[in-house]
Amino acid sequence: MSPGLSVHRYSIILLGAVGVGKGTQAKKLVETLKIPQISTGDILRAEIAAGSDLGSQVKGIMERGELVSDDILIDLVRSRLDKPDTARGAIFDGFPRTIPQADALEKLLLEVGLPAPIVVTIDVPDQEIIERLASRRTCLSCGMTLSLALDKDAVQSHKCPDGKTPNVVQREDDRPETVENRLKVYREKTAPLLEYYRRRRSLRTVSGTGTTNEVYARIAIELDSGTE
Ligand code: AMP
Repeated sequence: MSPGLSVHRYSIILLGAVGVGKGTQAKKLVETLKIPQISTGDILRAEIAAGSDLGSQVKGIMERGELVSDDILIDLVRSRLDKPDTARGAIFDGFPRTIPQADALEKLLLEVGLPAPIVVTIDVPDQEIIERLASRRTCLSCGMTLSLALDKDAVQSHKCPDGKTPNVVQREDDRPETVENRLKVYREKTAPLLEYYRRRRSLRTVSGTGTTNEVYARIAIELDSGTE
């Protein structure tokens, strides 16, 4: 990505089904663009880990792979956008997931003075998603994802490579029976956003197959071409 990109203001939405690599790519974009990732899934998992009221309200819904209500999500993102680290923008990962959330985000971005979003959707065939998630492990403390095959030590010890907590587990909702439901929910509730953003001429599509760096290079090309 061209070095000048880190001085722009950005709203970037990473769209795509569960397991296409949105979180991994968001973390790489955070490093380059120096703006925060807003992962609503990570925020909700942190609420569950902290034992908050919100956490206990959403735990069962998340374990079943259903969507948490729009009102909760919109409030959560509104508060997150109030924090000063989003002054130059944010990378949205897992939000919006429904049309009402997309409408709300459009308004919120206007209110906080951020540009209309560039939306990058990452495409991976369903069969590959199912295989990826069967071997995905997640650090519930920092959100980093690991692979059963590639990160054997971390997976066996449950210790995240970034050091501290023994919190590397298979997410409840990454179990095969729940993954199918999450793909169904994606097709029904979230896939309509593709047309929503296509109509606004904000949608870019990249293939999510290949290495992390290959996918990142495709995203960087789309962001370069989308910079005003
Ligand atoms: P993720 O980590 O993005 O796969 O999200 C995990 C789970 O959190 C989802 O399956 C939903 O239950 C919930 N969740 C996260 N983001 C949203 C959202 N934008 N709208 C509704 N539910 C969400």
